[in-house]
This record gives sequence, structure tokens and C-alpha cells, in this order.
Amino acid sequence: MRKTILVLIIGVPAIAQSSGFDINTLDKKADPCVDFYQYSCGTWLAQNPIPADQSTWGRFGELEERNRKILYDILEQASANDPKRDTVTREIGDFFAACIDTAAIDRRGTAPIKADLDRIAALKTKQDIQGELVNLHRIGANALFRFDSTQDAKNSEQMIGEVDQGGLGLPDRDYYLKEDAKSVEQRKQYLAHVQKMLQLLGDAPVTASQGAAVVMRIETELAKGSQDRVTRRDPNATYHKMTGHELFSLCPFFEWPKYFAAMGAPPLESLNVVAPNFFRQLETTLVTNSLDDFKTYLRWHLAHSVARLLPAAFVDEDFNFYHKILTGTKEQRPRWKRCVDYTDAGLGEALGQKYVEKTFGVEGKQRTLKMVNEIEKALGDDIRTLEWMTPATRQQALVKLEAVKNKIGFPDKWLDYSSVTIARDDALGNDRRAKEFEVERQLHKIGRPVDRTEWQMTPPTVNAYYDAQMNNINFPAGILQPPFYSNRTDEAANYGAIGAVVGHELTHGFDDEGRQFDAEGNLRDWWTPEDAKAFEQRAECFVNEYSSFTAVADVHVNGKLTLGENTADNGGLRLAFMALLDAMKDKPLAPLGGLTPEQRFFAGWGQIWCQARRPEMARMLATVDPHSPPDARVNGVVSNMPEFQKAFSCKVGQPMVRAPRCRVW
Ligand SMILES: [Zn+2]
Repeated sequence: MRKTILVLIIGVPAIAQSSGFDINTLDKKADPCVDFYQYSCGTWLAQNPIPADQSTWGRFGELEERNRKILYDILEQASANDPKRDTVTREIGDFFAACIDTAAIDRRGTAPIKADLDRIAALKTKQDIQGELVNLHRIGANALFRFDSTQDAKNSEQMIGEVDQGGLGLPDRDYYLKEDAKSVEQRKQYLAHVQKMLQLLGDAPVTASQGAAVVMRIETELAKGSQDRVTRRDPNATYHKMTGHELFSLCPFFEWPKYFAAMGAPPLESLNVVAPNFFRQLETTLVTNSLDDFKTYLRWHLAHSVARLLPAAFVDEDFNFYHKILTGTKEQRPRWKRCVDYTDAGLGEALGQKYVEKTFGVEGKQRTLKMVNEIEKALGDDIRTLEWMTPATRQQALVKLEAVKNKIGFPDKWLDYSSVTIARDDALGNDRRAKEFEVERQLHKIGRPVDRTEWQMTPPTVNAYYDAQMNNINFPAGILQPPFYSNRTDEAANYGAIGAVVGHELTHGFDDEGRQFDAEGNLRDWWTPEDAKAFEQRAECFVNEYSSFTAVADVHVNGKLTLGENTADNGGLRLAFMALLDAMKDKPLAPLGGLTPEQRFFAGWGQIWCQARRPEMARMLATVDPHSPPDARVNGVVSNMPEFQKAFSCKVGQPMVRAPRCRVW
């Protein structure tokens, strides 16, 4: 699955209420031609400081919070121990009830992982690591590498197995390799965190300190063998279909067929090895480190993967490093919010069913479909009139556009979790069994045809995605609400918000990554060399533009990492504007609150991105997030649009009038 999302969600929000587009929160003192982000968001940002338990706070966050409150109401009712509950209600209710019962969790201490710790302690030879990896991978722990199923990039009808780099405790390989003062400091803090976690498992301070150094050494070796994020955006750089024997020749330490079988996968004739160099490095790491070192490494990854459902000391230490230090969050979120999120992550389509019953009507689906059809028409018009594209490529692009499928709201059929044992007094066990269910379900797909009805996001999610291998766009019910969409605010702002979101997802099929896949979702070059060159020249303009934005203090936006998202933002807003103009031919819109429809359209775009970030979080996102920061998402796009400059009467030489303007679609 190669999916490009609308926004990376890491932090999670805290206050209720969410409103639609609001003319009153524009900063009328700011000049829209100087800083349109400030004009769109200045007043909202001034009125909405980041809550203590958040690392970012913006319009997405507000909406997530509103959804979370709805989910909480559902779960609180469902968790009453009532024998008359239906199966789905019992599943989600008991999962939540166990999670929220911190007294019981504290009482049991580390008992829920005792068997795992004993097993690791009893490993006799380095070859035994393989069996223990199976135990950890089956509960979703990220030890040494990853194994999953995926769509074959060159045969999109078929599911295959895939092994990939993994095994790090920090958010990215760069955290291990960069030499700037902040990175050096964060590595010291990470060492202290690993040491504390090992102490919580019972190690003496000196042993734990040595253990942390071992973990750092092994993970740094793995980081050095890992692909960076810009490389991983290139679908050809991550596609290496190999036989089992070829994988064995990269990393002969493991008996791979035995590992795959123990994981529950069918026998594999071939599989995708995403990053072959990583497996060469893994072999070296396995050969050169001792069994005792790996015991420490495995214990750390076990504790790391389950910490959030262990007693308070583990939860607090995990929060302290991953949220307080790495993202700048001041306080931990209340338990109920975390348990809502864990239930969504573990039993998402059970909870999602109840959410949809409560919130999402037929009307919402129809209105969204109408918008999608209008934006698709706009992209067709755009492709037909682009001056830089030759007829041969234009024809293929239209074929691809015609083949895009739309999924809106929620799945046609829901996952059935009835085989997962859920106990009211076993929070960690429930979570592990839900993860095992998911791992098994994914691996079971290997060798089978692709199921195109599945969703990669749960219904309450405030996000959307395009999947290049499915060639489909997906809008969960959770995003089809204010401020993205409202039947109360005016149409012009809707086009600038949800219309641009639809356009963004659609454009992903034609960004630097998506354009390499054809109408059927296969990685196949359907571009003439001259069109490919013209595309790349135009894309380079975005790379330069966004590289000039600052993410935080000394850190610039990575123009290459964010290229696909920036292309989608620029194309998306243009398509939405074309659709608005089209709609206004039949139904002209009047000025409102002193703003023309065109001005409200752009302000609708500006307002969905209002978001403040703590500096620590801004720093992390600059490394891991393929999306640009909010001010760049707003100003970076409008400054490329003559339509914007006309709407606000901006003059040549003003900051929101870029020269030369960048444009692909
Ligand atoms: Zn996107």
C-alpha cells in the first residue's frame, strides 16, 4: 500500500467544540497580500493557546477532540457490564473498561509481561533470537525489522509478503546520525530513558546504564543501514522483489522460511525486500553483537511496545520522553482520551460502526460525492488544457483520472473481531490479542487477490488519503464536518476547505510519486520522456520554493521530502477554485461579511490550516512529516495563484505574489 495522507497526526487534542469557517476569526489588521496565513488565522491563534496536554493545536485538533468526545460517550455507555449488550458493544465496552481501570493495571505490575521476560532471559544461543522475534512481531513490536503483506507494486491485483527496515526506538534514522547540538542532546535523553525503562524492569542502575548503551549501539548500526525518508518516497527505490534464497543471501543469520511459517504466513516463493542494504547491515549486527546484548535489546523493545498499558511508572516515563522531551507537551492527556484512542487503534471497525450509526447520514455521503464529482471534472478540464503536456501523456492521464475510485464515509462490510478474546480485567492482553488478530489478518492476505473494499483509516479519523496502488481516494466520515464541510456556512468557504482537500487527494495520483503508477495502480512509466522532463522541471520549482520556508529556529522545510504534499496542495486548491467558478455560473454567490465569494474561498483554505506547534514538535515534524508546516501550506500555495492575487488586489512585489510562480497542475 502506498498511501499519501492529508496530514500527519502525532499529537492529540484536548478541548471540545468545533466550528465552521468563521469570518470573525480573520485577522483584519493583517494584510492578506503580505501574510495570508496571519490574515486567515491570526485571531483564531491568539484566542486558542496550545493546551498543556498538546504538542500542537489547530482546527484539525478541535475536530478530533469533538470526535473523541462522541467516541467517549459511546464507550462509556458500552462499558456498563450489561449482559444484554450486542457483540460489538461488548467488545468495545470491555476493551475500554479494562484500559481505564488503572488501579487493576497498577496492582498487576509487570505480571502481564513476565512470561515474555522469562523467555528472553532463557534464550540459549543467538539462533534463538529468531523465535523471540516471532513473539514480538506478532504483537506489533518493532524489533530489528518489519514483516507485513503488501500489494505487489508491479502487479496491483496480487498481495505479496514484504520485509522492511525497522528496529529503532527514536522517530527516524536521522536522530541517530545527525551531529547538531540538539540531536546530540536528544540522544543523551534517549539513553536516560532506555536506562529508566530497564530499571523499571528490575535492572540495577549500573546494569541498566550499560544496557542503554547497548541499545543505542545496536539501533545506531540499524539506522546507518536504513534508507532515509526522501529515498523512500521513490517507489523504485523500495521495490526489490526477491526469492527467499536471495533474501537468505543478504541475511543468512535467519532461517527465513521457518520465521515466515511461525509468523503465520503461507510459504513464500518471492517477496519484496524494501531496503536490501538494511538486511546486509542487519546480518553484520546479528553476527557482531553478543547474545546478552540482544537480550537487552529485546527486553527494551518489549517494554517500549507495551509501556502505555503497564503500571503508571512505565506510562509516565514513556510520556516523559516521547511526549514531553520529543514534542514539548507539558502534561499527559487524561486517561479516558488515551483509552478512546487505544480502542480506536485496536478495534477500530467495531468502534467505527457505532460512531457511524451516531453521526454520519446518507446526506453527508451524497454531498461529498457531489463535491468529488465536481473536482474530478475540474482535473479533467485542467489536464485537457495544460500547455506543457503532449497529447500522448495527456491521453494516459485522462485514462488514469477516469479510473480513480472514490470511497466515502466507512466500509461496506465491517471487520469481525469475535475471534479476539476481550477480558474486562486484562488491558494489555486485550491490546496484544487485537494486535495479533491484525498481524494474522494482514499476513493471511499473502498470495491472494487484493481486496479493494478495505480501508486504511477508521471512520472517526480526521484525515483522508489517496492510495496509488489502489488508485482510489478515501474520505473517512470523521473529516466530513466543520470546518472542512458545513451545510450552514457558505458554499465558497466549503470549496476552499473540503473541496481543496478532495482536490489534494486527487492530485496525489499525479504528484512526483503517484504519477509513476498507472490507472490500474501498477508501477509503470506511462509518460513520454519529454513530458516527464517537463514535470520534473516544474516540480523543481516547488522544491526550491518550500526549501526557503523555516520550520523552526535553525531548521528549514525539506523541499524534497514535502514535494508530493506541496504538489497536492497547489493542485488541489486550483481544482477547487475551478469547481467554484463552475458552480457559480449556475448559482452566483453574493458578498458576505464584506468578503467576495473568491475571498471567502481562499480564507476557507487558510482557516483549515490554523495550527500552533510547540518548537520541539515543529522540529520533530520537520524530520518525519512529508507535509509542510501550516503557514507554508497556506502561503506557499496562494502566492502561486494569480486568482488569489486578483481576489485580494495584491501588487507585484508583495510577499504573496511569487515570481516566478510555480505550477504543475
Ligand atoms: Zn496528502
